[in-house]
This record gives sequence, structure tokens and C-alpha cells, in this order.
Amino acid sequence: MSETPYFIQLDEARALCSKTPPALAVEHVSLDNAHQRTLAADLQSLVNDPPFDNSSMDGFACRFDPSATYPLTLRILGTQAASGENPELSVGVGDAARIMTGAPMPAGSDAILPIEMCTVSEDGKSVVLNEAPKPHFVRKKGENLQEGATALIKGSYLSPAQVGLCATMGHATVPVYRRLKMGIISTGDELKFPGEPLLHGEIYESNSFGLAGLVRWLGHEPVRYQAVADSLDGLRAALNKASAECDIVLTSGGVSMGEFDYVRRIMETEGEIHFWRMKIRPGSPPLFGLWKGTPIFGLPGNPVSSHVVFRMLVADYVRHALGSDGPKEWTVRAKLCDRVKSTMDCVTLRRVELVSTDEGMMAYQPKHQGSGNLDSLASASGLTMLQPGEIGEVGEWIDVVVL
Ligand code: AMP
Ligand code: MG
Repeated sequence: MSETPYFIQLDEARALCSKTPPALAVEHVSLDNAHQRTLAADLQSLVNDPPFDNSSMDGFACRFDPSATYPLTLRILGTQAASGENPELSVGVGDAARIMTGAPMPAGSDAILPIEMCTVSEDGKSVVLNEAPKPHFVRKKGENLQEGATALIKGSYLSPAQVGLCATMGHATVPVYRRLKMGIISTGDELKFPGEPLLHGEIYESNSFGLAGLVRWLGHEPVRYQAVADSLDGLRAALNKASAECDIVLTSGGVSMGEFDYVRRIMETEGEIHFWRMKIRPGSPPLFGLWKGTPIFGLPGNPVSSHVVFRMLVADYVRHALGSDGPKEWTVRAKLCDRVKSTMDCVTLRRVELVSTDEGMMAYQPKHQGSGNLDSLASASGLTMLQPGEIGEVGEWIDVVVL
């Protein structure tokens, strides 16, 4: 243990973890399965977007005539349908064609007047343009994306809009990283599965459920194992199973200084620890290392701490491994409206409620900040990012991570 980095800064912890990435694999998935995945290659558009000049309005297509005066009466040649070419529609000076949004511009036309600014004659054969038709209501071929252009780069975390863009570019399948399987093992003699009656001294096991949600939020696959009691044999068996079945293992509990903190003890004697403890509050106890070649995070047992450490350390690790930009950790500037207790040498992450006002974002701390108080996290919308040395006085503008 003597050379194991101990009680290090968050940035150092992140850097150490990133040296031991999980094994990655690439697969091609349909767009239905592409949501929240990370692109494993740059993606070029197979087509122009739009593929042809088309109208952005319902109205009339005509040829722009700089010498015309308005109102101007034009002959209606016919209707341009949503797709396909209408060979009868060859629009010259004095002609107009009815057109719907998205329909291709008929031959000869180069401007649109929206229907609201037109008056169609009773016999439907002519139309009066009450003002000049607009060339800017024509969406030009390739104006959004040129064929061959790289619109999404490797590492893009696919949001709904980006999955839609893959379809626009003509891709039926996309190369993405295989979802990482993340095993979750809660440890502690006192833990009971929710729904079972509690004996004195027992509590409901909550960390594995919250962590499974965080793994899904990251776009990966949680595998929740049954909680294990505080015993070396039980823990060894669980770690062996999880490390054989998963790409990353997360444990919760048992990493502090206590007599029954078996995760730390077994990692010291039978695993490989790359660091133990880091300077954040809450959440200082974690460790990172390898168990039989599989990266393992020993997360704190306190429910708020395990959540905070996942957001600050595990999420960063996974994003880094995939070279990914998402899901993004958004930070906003907010004014502290309650005093926040900071710890001088640590990054302090207190749970706050964000309220948007004309003056900017306000941060309140309505709940008590015990790291066992999951209610304070469930009702929070942000975490303060007070850097070591920052005090957290009322009126200070600080960075807040949006939850
Ligand atoms: P430990 O790190 O094992 O000492 O746990 C710290 C605190 O977190 C103790 O109060 C535990 O009862 C609690 N705790 C540990 N694991 C869980 C869990 N999976 N769900 C809820 N609370 C937990
Ligand atoms: Mg414990």
C-alpha cells in the first residue's frame, strides 16, 4: 500500500483511472438502437441535404422578375406534388405553380410567395401576388449538408436529433461502441432488499438502483448483483463473477477505514489498487483498480456519495474511454442564496436547488447535507463545484453542475 496514491485531487484521480480503460468493441446498429450510443467513426452524408431545391412554404412558385410591379396576376399552370417532377410545369415569366412545403421547385421557378399573400381567382386559373415572391423561401439543394460532408464525428454521443441526422444522411445503420456492461455490487451486512421487513439495524439497499440508473443515463448496460454481506469469501465470489461477466465493476460500501470495510481490504490483498481516497466532499473514500484484469471502482456506501462519485469520476472515465462528448456535464454560474459549508482542501459538492431569475440562476440549499440523505439529492437540481479554498458565502457566484 505504501506507494498507492492516497487522498489525491479529483483531476489526478481522473487521470489515473483513464490510464486503465475498459476493453472496447465496435458494432453496427440500426437507428432504433442508436440512441445514447457513441459513434465509433466519423459519419459522412451519403446525400445532399436537401437533395433538391424545394419550397419552405405552402404557396405559389414562380420566376422572380425584377422589373415586375405588384399586385401582379399570374397564370396557374398546375400543382407541384410533394415528390416527383411534373413535366407539365415549366414555369416562365407570367406563370405560377401551386406548391406545398418541401415539394421540389418546378422547372423554371426560383421564388415562392406564401399562400397568405396570394389571391386566387374564382375560376382557379390565375393568382394575384400581393407582393414580390421571395427567393429565400427556396431551400437550396445541399444548403444544410453537402454529400460527402462529415456531419458527425467519432465520439459523438447520439442525441435524438443526431440519430435523426444519421437518417437524413442516408445511413440505415451506424458504427457505435458496444454498450459497456457495468456490474454493480452493494456490500454491507445491514442491507435489505426493498419490500422485505426490516429488522433493527437494517436499512434498505438503495445504491445499486441509483447506480443502475446512472449507468443507463450514461448509455450503458447495468448488471445489478445481489448485495453481499461483509465477508471476504462472499465478496471474492461476487467480484469474480462480476469481473468475468462485465467490462467494469462498481462496488458500493466497504471502502472506508472501518473494521468491516472489506472491499478495500480484499483489493489490497488480492486485487490491484491504483489509488484510494480523493479530495471531494461528499465522496472521499473511493478506490480504483483492477480485479482479475477488470477495472473496478470501489464507491462509497453513503447513497449521496456513491451518486456524486459516479458523476464526477465514473462518468468521466467512461466518456474519456470512448472519446465521447456526452452525456454532457453542464455547469452553470449561480448565485449562492444560502451559505454552503466548504472543505478547504476538497472540491465541495453540495446539493442545491436552482431557480432561474432575471438576475441569473440562484442556488438555494434547503435540505440538510448529510451524505446519507438521499432525499436531499432527489430534490436537488444542482451540485456546487466549490474548488479547494472557495468558501461558499451568500452572494458569491459559483459553478454549479446541473443534475
Ligand atoms: P460503508 O461505506 O459501507 O461504511 O457505508 C457507509 C454508509 O452507507 C452506511 O451508513 C451504510 O449503511 C450505507 N450504505 C452502504 N451501502 C448502501 C447501499 N447499498 N444502500 C444504502 N445505503 C448504503
Ligand atoms: Mg458497509
